[in-house]
Amino acid sequence: MQGCWAMENKCQPQSREPARVKQILAGLAGAYPDVSTDLKFSTPFELLVAVILSAQSTDAQVNKITERLFKKYRTPEDFARLTPEELAEHIKGCGLFRNKSKFIVDTSRILAEDYHGKVPEVREQLEKLPGVGRKTANVVLGVAFGQQTFPVDTHVQRVARRLGLASGKTPEQIEKELCVLIPPELWQPLHHQMIQHGRKVCDARRPRCEQCCIRDYCPEAGKKGADSCISY
Ligand code: SF4
Repeated sequence: MQGCWAMENKCQPQSREPARVKQILAGLAGAYPDVSTDLKFSTPFELLVAVILSAQSTDAQVNKITERLFKKYRTPEDFARLTPEELAEHIKGCGLFRNKSKFIVDTSRILAEDYHGKVPEVREQLEKLPGVGRKTANVVLGVAFGQQTFPVDTHVQRVARRLGLASGKTPEQIEKELCVLIPPELWQPLHHQMIQHGRKVCDARRPRCEQCCIRDYCPEAGKKGADSCISY
């Protein structure tokens, strides 16, 4: 894609500069202390359901739905007794609700039958569940089970690329680059901080560079059309 700074390798030397990376990490940690997921949940299973629901939906939309949903249905066994059509009626407020409803019912049945109603803590097992991809598995493993994972969503992709921390085209490539660059104990907090920064400051269409706490370390700071090559 033409015009993409990452593709032109303009920022590659700085992107690997340890001092600059350190300043970015310190800036984000200072701006977003103690961040965690905005999704509301009280068990690993509820988190799993919420993350499946969150694809192409906002956390606020998901929380509104799950606030009512989890009062009626709490466990994989509860959800496994529903048909996808029945569950769809409860989650109509979020995008792709028919697909998500089938994923959640199918996943619940597998958990109830094969895992004694527990969410597995093993990536390979999680990723075999319907509706669970690498990002969802990373969120559940990191947030519910405290494992060191780096979930990459659209905010993390955009912020990492603009900051020159990664140049990959896919979430998997970006995750790999970030995991090489960043110490494992920072993966979870940094992922939450990058999401907050992407939502509040480094907007996809109009990054608010003048308000950005790490603008001095960003190769894209103040550039018009900073996202011209990033279509999220
Ligand atoms: S300076 Fe601008 S483009 Fe860079 S991280 Fe901050 S808001 Fe995003």
